[in-house]
Amino acid sequence: MKIVLLGAPGTGKGTMAFSMSRALSLPHISTGDLFRFNIAEGTELGHRAKQYLDSGKLVPDEITIGMVKERLAEGDCREGFLLDGFPRTVPQAVALDEVLKLESEELDLVLNLQVPEELIFRRITNRLVCSACGKPYNKLDFPPVQEGVCDTCGGPVIQRRDDTAETLRTRLDTYYELTDPLVTYYQEQGILLNHDNSGTHTPDQVDSLITKIKEQIKLNRQSSATAISQE
Ligand code: ADP
Ligand code: ZN
Repeated sequence: MKIVLLGAPGTGKGTMAFSMSRALSLPHISTGDLFRFNIAEGTELGHRAKQYLDSGKLVPDEITIGMVKERLAEGDCREGFLLDGFPRTVPQAVALDEVLKLESEELDLVLNLQVPEELIFRRITNRLVCSACGKPYNKLDFPPVQEGVCDTCGGPVIQRRDDTAETLRTRLDTYYELTDPLVTYYQEQGILLNHDNSGTHTPDQVDSLITKIKEQIKLNRQSSATAISQE
């Protein structure tokens, strides 16, 4: 299964990806995490990306696309992947389609997460994350049992540097301008599934979404098989 998670910052891509990658046994590829890892390790890529992350702007396409191509070439992505935060521009989406086409592959589904903007502000400014395992938390709704310590792995739970109201405004504006056109792009390919993600997820809700995703992928595959046999 090859799945893309689409949605503005704070619509819960990371949280959803965390549950979905476990439930579907897919590698979770978050471009934001890859950039933050490179920044923390002080790599050349990290140096080039840092200023963009700090200001809430997108890292230029050629840097981002190169990084993702390398990651997708790794063995664990053979059977599928869950992309979180990529593509975020039309040229990135076109590049992804081209990479897959070389292997006669295509995306199975794009899950578009939707949340009203007021809620996004509340979520992002209260968001915390385990810097070791990536488990998401929230200061108000779901804090770690022991402050600053991950319930799952014991790693440090931190607030991201770019999770401020100011940077969030830039990230949202960038989203509307550059990423939102991908909704139409994937709708036209017939693989978009919209999901209202404004509630808090219980394990049952995640299970029922996953069932829906599997059904949708089955339907998409059937209809593309029919289309091919009619060509
Ligand atoms: P969020 O979705 O909450 O903004 P991410 O962790 O996905 O958080 O991204 C954090 C930052 O990493 C972005 O603001 C941007 O600077 C950079 N980034 C992540 N993915 C991409 C991408 N596909 N293209 C360009 N920049 C990206
Ligand atoms: Zn952890």
